[in-house]
Amino acid sequence: SGKEYIMMIRTRLPAGLLTSKQLLEELDLCDDIGNGTLRITSRQATQFHGVQKSDVRQLMQRMKDVGLTTLGACGDVNRNVMCCPAPFKNNALHDEIQKVSFQIADHFAPRTGAYREIFLQDPETGEKVQVDENGQEIIEPIYGKHYLPRKFKMGICLPEDNCIDVYTQDLGMIAIHEEGKIIGYNILVGGGMGRTPSADKTYPALGLKLTFVAPEDLIGVCEAVVKVQRDYGNREDRKVARLKYTVRNMGLPEFKKKVEEYFGRALPEPHAADVTEFDDHKGWSAQGDGNWFYGLNVENGRIADLEGWTLKSAIREICATLEPGIHFTSHQDIIFSGIAEADKPKLEAILKKHGIALTSEISNTLRWSMACVAWPTCGLSITESERALPGMVDDLEKEVAKLGLEDEKFTMRMTGCPNGCARPYNSDIGLVGRAKEKYTMFLGGRRLGNRLSYIYKDMVPADEVVPELVKVMTVFKEQRQEGETLGDFCDRIGQEKLLEATGG
Ligand code: SF4
Repeated sequence: SGKEYIMMIRTRLPAGLLTSKQLLEELDLCDDIGNGTLRITSRQATQFHGVQKSDVRQLMQRMKDVGLTTLGACGDVNRNVMCCPAPFKNNALHDEIQKVSFQIADHFAPRTGAYREIFLQDPETGEKVQVDENGQEIIEPIYGKHYLPRKFKMGICLPEDNCIDVYTQDLGMIAIHEEGKIIGYNILVGGGMGRTPSADKTYPALGLKLTFVAPEDLIGVCEAVVKVQRDYGNREDRKVARLKYTVRNMGLPEFKKKVEEYFGRALPEPHAADVTEFDDHKGWSAQGDGNWFYGLNVENGRIADLEGWTLKSAIREICATLEPGIHFTSHQDIIFSGIAEADKPKLEAILKKHGIALTSEISNTLRWSMACVAWPTCGLSITESERALPGMVDDLEKEVAKLGLEDEKFTMRMTGCPNGCARPYNSDIGLVGRAKEKYTMFLGGRRLGNRLSYIYKDMVPADEVVPELVKVMTVFKEQRQEGETLGDFCDRIGQEKLLEATGG
């Protein structure tokens, strides 16, 4: 059958959480009806590639049998809810935000019959299921008849750990805490990375601080924001339909007034607290209950078996023997949780046996990099991303070591088009596909994710990306202030002076 019948299917996994059994089924599914690989996304979910249209029903049914769903993973509704996945136990803060991410995912899940009607059949009668569990007609209380003008993304973090990139969400939540208790949430609105190449009216944006809400008001205020977007978002032009445009066209004060109207109460000013760090949760961490969790770097989120590097088999073996909890991160990596002290060497031995580098063996350059899917799977891609970045990382990490900068932590993110799925516009280095084998180079964002970068150079050929970066890093090494990060340095110096210093 032709390419038009091959599809990408995405699973919804709030906070990136699933069980070993569920992951094993996903790996079986990617072998049985996908292209043999599973992709961890930058929103803590998974994607199957190369699925034949005729196999979709089987895939849906098998996912349902292990308690997984694709509902709300695509479409003009709330997408996978991101949340810091770190599986700390006996930790009220992490427990609470992860619980809240599930509540939000449930609250904003589409109730539509279409999904079930199309894909699920009564196993006995073969009839299509068109009603909810109680036999009630299905209605959409939040989305109404026409859904949202565009997709909608939400994420929750703690101030000390912005590992979910809260400023890039349509609706971001920072859980503010005092003495081990969450006292409320700072609400950010109107973040989003996507740009359309031909449309200058589109731009990446960071979330703006709207208000501070008490825990019991959180879902109500989120619902009010979603409803304002539903009723005031642009339905004529999808290019400028995301919440970031609604907020900016209306102006934040006016937008806030509308949210207050829908919520039914005046909303206070935001809390002064903000994000302060980003923990990628890689390597071993004590969970707090005597067990451990291990964060494994998965280069560009691709789970596959290649010669001498059999990650898919390694994960299968870990899931089958140690049965850890599974948590995907926003950097397309995987955390195994609930590992007993005595099992730590077993997990490492399985990884070694399959040729997988441990976190302690990889460079910071690799550790903090990620790429979107792009070619050959993504229909929107302009050039390579997932297949181009690994070679650049290999070259760059050697140069970084030569410069003695190997301890620097800088985020490097690549996408195959300006849509920005791997969030390239707020990282230290952003490489955005511009034409075949040509990239726009962005600098001056930061690992913390709360600053946008600027265009340093446009139309950089793929083979000049690393040499260009080496020039920048050489200047950084010579001229940085004490403790200054790469992104902060590039931001302080600015494009013009940086071009002068590198010799253009
Ligand atoms: Fe997203 Fe563009 Fe990458 Fe496709 S090529 S995954 S649309 S950023």
